[in-house]
Amino acid sequence: MKKIIIAVDGFSSCGKSTMAKDLAKETGYIYIDSGAMYRAITLYCLRNGLIQGDVVDTEALRKVIDTVTISFRLDPSTGKAYTLLNGENVESEIRTMEVSDKVSPVSAIGFVRKAMVLLQQKMGEDKGIVMDGRDIGTTVFPNAEMKIFVTASPEIRAQRRVDELVAKGELVSFDEVLENLKKRDHIDQTRAESPLRQAEDAYVLDNSHLTITEQKEWLIHLFQKITTGSES
Ligand code: C5P
Repeated sequence: MKKIIIAVDGFSSCGKSTMAKDLAKETGYIYIDSGAMYRAITLYCLRNGLIQGDVVDTEALRKVIDTVTISFRLDPSTGKAYTLLNGENVESEIRTMEVSDKVSPVSAIGFVRKAMVLLQQKMGEDKGIVMDGRDIGTTVFPNAEMKIFVTASPEIRAQRRVDELVAKGELVSFDEVLENLKKRDHIDQTRAESPLRQAEDAYVLDNSHLTITEQKEWLIHLFQKITTGSES
């Protein structure tokens, strides 16, 4: 069967990655978490003193951006992919609140987006890929055959994120997480470069009240419809 590109976009913490990973598993496609790439660049900035408050030292970052490498590797023991920043496994560090708090200003920078988009397009050259993010169906792969735009209420998203962080041992308050989500949504939707928006040809999925199983069924049904043209 001909391979396609699946683009999953939407708001922060609405389960895009769970959905994209599930789809990749069901279809045998490669899963790419584009948010992890922006998170890795943000971690680089934090480690190198390139962020003060919400202000990024763009000139210093511009000088080094071509030397920063971001890649993914599969851990054969867990079957899960992890993110490498200049060859170092940074998978857990990029998920902390500190990085979440600074990632939107970093990802609003034009030359950062250009570099990441080029890398993402390269990863999708052979198709057979599921990529999640904010601009995948609009900017990275505007011709993707299957586009999904995911949404859920901010409160439901915040509670899911709190549960995830607490399970990892990071103690966070619901209000702190809710505020971070709303702030990121706002910056992501209003930035000049590739703002978060629904592609005209995207299928919208509000998963506020869907179980993971219901969501999976919805996705597989859509995938089959698009790849075979059949409704079954
Ligand atoms: O998906 P995740 O929440 O991990 O993404 C972290 C941040 O990276 C988002 O809040 C957004 O600012 C940025 N991002 C982006 N474009 C993408 C993916 C993520 O701007 N394609």
